[in-house]
Amino acid sequence: MTTNKHLKRRARSLAASTGQPYATALRRIRSQLEDRVSSVHSPTPETVVQCSFCAKSEPAAQRLVAGPGGVFICDECVESSAKLIAQSGPEESAQSRAAYFDPTIEVAMARLGGLVRRADLVEDQIVNAVRRLREQGSDWTLIAAAAGVSIEYLQERLDRSKQPRSY
Ligand SMILES: [Zn+2]
Repeated sequence: MTTNKHLKRRARSLAASTGQPYATALRRIRSQLEDRVSSVHSPTPETVVQCSFCAKSEPAAQRLVAGPGGVFICDECVESSAKLIAQSGPEESAQSRAAYFDPTIEVAMARLGGLVRRADLVEDQIVNAVRRLREQGSDWTLIAAAAGVSIEYLQERLDRSKQPRSY
């Protein structure tokens, strides 16, 4: 089902349950979406732009290069990676790949904190991207379609990001 159909179905359902006209129900649902995106916390730029590998943010990292899906890499990590690739052969690469996907308990535990922080960072980027698109006048149905999710899913994500983070 397309996101537009989702929205219309919800509006029909709301109209049927409250007795209000369909157009009013549709406006109300769209307004609820606006409230969600405008009330989410605003992350500071430092938490948004940082190296996805070493977690350094500008200006500690000299330069950050943006990659797809909200990831960044700093100049130092690019340099370290280039050295590692130059020094290791295909056999060592296969070994480190296998170790990555089958980590010891200690390694898996050590990774966990970084994964949680990265998930929060991506969550902030999603909220910021949605907020910016709304400010530029993009329709909710188009935003949800571009994200490849339903409007309901997008709402859940925005609601979740409003929860205070206490580490
Ligand atoms: Zn880095």
